[in-house]
Amino acid sequence: MRPLIIQGALPVECEHLASQLTNVEMETIGGWVFWKGQYQGFPVIISKTRMGMTNSAAATAIAILKYQPCAIINQGTSGGHDPALNVFDLVLGRAVCNIGAFKTPKKALGEGADALAWREAFDMLAEDETDPEPIAIRHFYADPALLAAAQYVRHDYTVGQVVEGIIGSADVWNNELDRIAFFREVYGTVTEEMEGASVAQVAAQFQVPFLAIRVISNNLTNQQAYNAKTGQVCQDFVFKVVQHYFAELSKN
Ligand code: SAH
Repeated sequence: MRPLIIQGALPVECEHLASQLTNVEMETIGGWVFWKGQYQGFPVIISKTRMGMTNSAAATAIAILKYQPCAIINQGTSGGHDPALNVFDLVLGRAVCNIGAFKTPKKALGEGADALAWREAFDMLAEDETDPEPIAIRHFYADPALLAAAQYVRHDYTVGQVVEGIIGSADVWNNELDRIAFFREVYGTVTEEMEGASVAQVAAQFQVPFLAIRVISNNLTNQQAYNAKTGQVCQDFVFKVVQHYFAELSKN
């Protein structure tokens, strides 16, 4: 059986997972840490990707080439874009998208800059360089079997609601409410973080099934402050998803 990779960027997002593996072996490749072991008898690798798009893309590519995973789950904390979401609520990523790739309008020296006018998404996935540059918002959709496993165990999560939605990723922590409203309206995001879309892009390129699961750890749209304890409950939920996913896999 091929291992399933669970990623977390920060220690509060992955060490709780790693501590629950049995027969663990730690491996560090180029500064990225992997804990290889078993959870309830199933092969699981916990990957500390570190923060941001570049770190998480590199950790994903290394993991795919080195461990040939059956699937990848990227999980951790995130900042709500939807005021209906509270700290401790969970978002199952129906899709993830890059909210950091733009072609800005032209402005002359002295005309200033206005991020609210950045409405064209720069498409990073064009095969060849083209002119004019391709403009597209790319959504990377969740693997149906992984999403179904998460939906199946959703009622085991008792400290918040579980919703399905679009997760936005960029090397940016957005604190401007009008900007957040823009992402919600144009990209359909319910929450933001700094890794999911980058992992999904690499996983899609290698055709590895992918799912993002994010807990709301802070939400500026309803004035809820960052709570680091959310990282642990998210990890507990992810193990339930993984257990159900493997149980279904072994039936087939
Ligand atoms: N050490 C920080 C928290 C980490 S911030 C502190 O103590 O405040 C960045 C990490 O948290 C990223 O890995 C990102 O995925 C996640 N994250 C949580 N909330 C976020 C938000 N509102 N915007 C962007 N990233 C967020």
